[in-house]
Amino acid sequence: MLIPACSQPPCHRVNSPARIALVIPVYNEASVLPELLRRLDLLMASHPGERWTILFVNDGSRDESAELIRRKASADPSYALVDFSRNFGHQAALTAGLAHAIDHDAVVTMDADLQDPPEVIPSLLAAWRGGAEVVLAVRRSRQERGLRRLGFDLFHRGFGRLIDFPIEPNTGTFGLLSAEAVAAFNSLPEKHRFFPGLRAWIGFKQGEVLYDRQERAAGTPGVTFRKLVRYALDGLLSFSHLPLRLLTYLGLFVAGCGFAVGAFFITRRLLGIEVAFTGFTTLVTLVLFLGGIQLVGIGVLGEYLGRIYDEVKRRPHYIVRRRVRLE
Ligand code: UDP
Ligand code: MG
Repeated sequence: MLIPACSQPPCHRVNSPARIALVIPVYNEASVLPELLRRLDLLMASHPGERWTILFVNDGSRDESAELIRRKASADPSYALVDFSRNFGHQAALTAGLAHAIDHDAVVTMDADLQDPPEVIPSLLAAWRGGAEVVLAVRRSRQERGLRRLGFDLFHRGFGRLIDFPIEPNTGTFGLLSAEAVAAFNSLPEKHRFFPGLRAWIGFKQGEVLYDRQERAAGTPGVTFRKLVRYALDGLLSFSHLPLRLLTYLGLFVAGCGFAVGAFFITRRLLGIEVAFTGFTTLVTLVLFLGGIQLVGIGVLGEYLGRIYDEVKRRPHYIVRRRVRLE
């Protein structure tokens, strides 16, 4: 069911009070949740003019996150919970949250670990009321250090060059989607999802709000380095055919070299110039080099093929165990 709350923009902006949903994926965040809930309560109390729904998606947490949220939801009708049957990943949790937030005028997507401060949300709403249909929270600064930081920087810098349409480099999950943008997002069927890319892909009028990305309030990142690499690959492979094209160019280059070398030796033989019967080192190097390139080529093809296989299986993105305060 992909029916937006209102299909005639800009009627969502005259709805009063506006129905605002916050979609927050949660994976083992019990150490942060009390502080997050406190700050969300403060946000709602200071903006009583809106109708808030805080929609947590519990992505198979192994701590008491789900129980904390369920307890909060039973005491406060603004809170709701979608509880997954296991860990399906950050992107699946976002997808579920957006699918459950269709009857809202605007949906804010954010992380649970307070790296995206709830205090920025009023600025996102102001930008939306000012006419933006997709509001990006753009990081003015970042707190990560070391390898993780280097990875983020390299990815954001390289990625922007590789794909065919612009993605604002310093953005992540944090931002706001209007009802129309949510409907567009929900209509995308693909399984391997790269949220910032898809958000840029759907288009709509974009607005930006600058903010300082905070340090994770407590706990450890649930998105491990391995998951980040896979996420980066999803982003690159689902928005670019460049790896395949590079392989074609590399193949052409190597074949060209082979042709030139072959022509050189054949000409020498025809001209009667002695061809030395050595070259073991050269041969071994060439065989290993070409074998390596072929294996890399097969690997890149395999990355695309595996993703195609995942898509054609058409398994659901996630399985919901239970819903609290949601039909
Ligand atoms: N998260 C999730 N499923 C996962 C890993 C993370 O829903 O498998 C949630 C997590 O609770 C947090 C958000 O996704 O709200 C971002 O995760 P994290 O802080 O680990 O990522 P980072 O900020 O390092 O990108
Ligand atoms: Mg985080």
